[in-house]
Amino acid sequence: MIAGDANRYLTCFPDCYNYGTKGDQMAVSKEFSERLKALPEYLFLEIDRAKREVQASGADVIDLGIVDPDKPTPDEIIRALQEAAQDPANHQYATNYGMIEFRQRIAAWFSNRFGVELDPETEVLPVLGSKEGIGHIHLAFINPGDVVLVPDPGYPVYRSGTIIAGGEAYQMPLLEENAFLPSLDKIPPEIAGRARLMFINYPNNPTAAVAPAEFFREVVRFAEENDVIVCHDAAYAEMTYDGYTAASFLSVEGAKEVGIEFHSLSKTFNMTGWRIAFAVGNAKILAGLAKVKSNVDSGMFQALQEAGIAALTQDLSEFRAGQMAIYQRRRDLLCDGLNAMGWRVEKPRGGLCVWVRVPHNLGSSAAALDLLRKAGVVVAPGVGFGKHGEGYVRFSLANSEDRIEQAVKRIAPVYSEWMRKQS
Ligand SMILES: *Cc1c(COP(=O)(O)O)cnc(C)c1O
Repeated sequence: MIAGDANRYLTCFPDCYNYGTKGDQMAVSKEFSERLKALPEYLFLEIDRAKREVQASGADVIDLGIVDPDKPTPDEIIRALQEAAQDPANHQYATNYGMIEFRQRIAAWFSNRFGVELDPETEVLPVLGSKEGIGHIHLAFINPGDVVLVPDPGYPVYRSGTIIAGGEAYQMPLLEENAFLPSLDKIPPEIAGRARLMFINYPNNPTAAVAPAEFFREVVRFAEENDVIVCHDAAYAEMTYDGYTAASFLSVEGAKEVGIEFHSLSKTFNMTGWRIAFAVGNAKILAGLAKVKSNVDSGMFQALQEAGIAALTQDLSEFRAGQMAIYQRRRDLLCDGLNAMGWRVEKPRGGLCVWVRVPHNLGSSAAALDLLRKAGVVVAPGVGFGKHGEGYVRFSLANSEDRIEQAVKRIAPVYSEWMRKQS
C-alpha cells in the first residue's frame, strides 16, 4: 500500500507511519522528538493490514471505512480554478490572511446561511483545510501543561495537536445515554481550571450526533466560567437530513467572545483534496492562529481562493440538494438493512457516517476484523477514535447504493453468527 492510500483511510492519522521502516545507515541520530513519540499509534494499522490480506486473496472488498466524498467537485468550481490558475497575478505568494474578496464572500455567505455577522477584516481567516487550522490553533494558546478538552470518541487531530504543542488532552466522554454530548458538569474542577482550549464538533464525527442550541449555550457558560477558548469544528454543518438544519455555534449569545468555528468546503462540495476551509469568530483568537500560520505557511494559492469564492457565490443549491438526497438514500439503505437483520441502529440526522453499537462482548476491533474477513466490508473500529469509541463501529456513507446494498447482504450472515454465539 502506498502512503497516500493509508492517509486516505481515515483522513486524519499520522501520515508517516510506514515511512522509515526500511534500513537506515545511522550517520546522524534520527531519533524522533519526545512530542512526536508521544503521538498515538496509528490505530487502524491492524485493519489496514487485514484489508491488504483480504484483497491479496482476490476477494472483493467494500470500503465503508473512509469518510471522503466519492462524487466529483461541481463543474462551476473546477472552471473557476482553471480560469484563475491561468492568471499570472495568482502565481505569486498570496497574502497570509487571504484575499479580502474571499473573506468578504465568506462573511456574506455566513450572514446569509447562519444570520451571524462577521467583520471580514478581523473575524474571517482562510485555512488550508480545517485540519490545518485545527492542528495549529494549539500552538497559539497552549503552554506546556495546559489542558485541552477534547471529545472522545473524536477527530484525532484535536488530541495530536495538543500533544505537538506540549499540552495535556483531557478526553470528554461522548456517551450514547447523553446523546453523544459531553457532560460539562462532570469535568473535574481541577481540570477545568487548567483548561485553555475546548474542542466540540457537531454534526459529529464519528457518532453522527447533532447538537441542540441549548448545548451551545451551556458551552458558552462553561467557557466564561472557566476561562476556556472554544473551537467548534463545523465540518459537517451542511450535511444534514430529514429537514434538520445545523446552527452555527456563533449564533448563540456570547459565543463570539469565547470562541471560533471551523468550516470547510471539503465535505460540502466534494472538495477534500483541494484544502479550502476557513475559521471564523473571535478576532483575538483568530489573530493567534494567523500568527502561527504566518510562520509556517504563506497563505492559500490565490486560484484556490477564487474557486472558494465561486463555491460560495454560485447557486449550487441544486447540486447540494441532489448530493444530500444521495447520502440520505445511502443512509436509509444501510440503516434499514441493518435494522432488518436485527442490528438496531438509529438514522443519524447529520454527518457522513453511521455509528453502530456492536453486539455485547464483541470489541470494536474484533467486530471490524470479522466484518472484513467474513463479509469483505471495511468499517472503522470505534476504539480508533478514543477509548469511549470501544463497542462501536463506524460505517461511512461515501460509497454507492449498490455497494452499500451488497455490504448489507454480506454482513447479514456474519451478524447472525454473532447472535448465535451470544445466546
Ligand atoms: C473531514 C473532517 C475535517 C477536515 O476537513 P478538511 O477541511 O478537509 O481538513 C475536520 N473535522 C472533522 C470532524 C472531519 O471529519
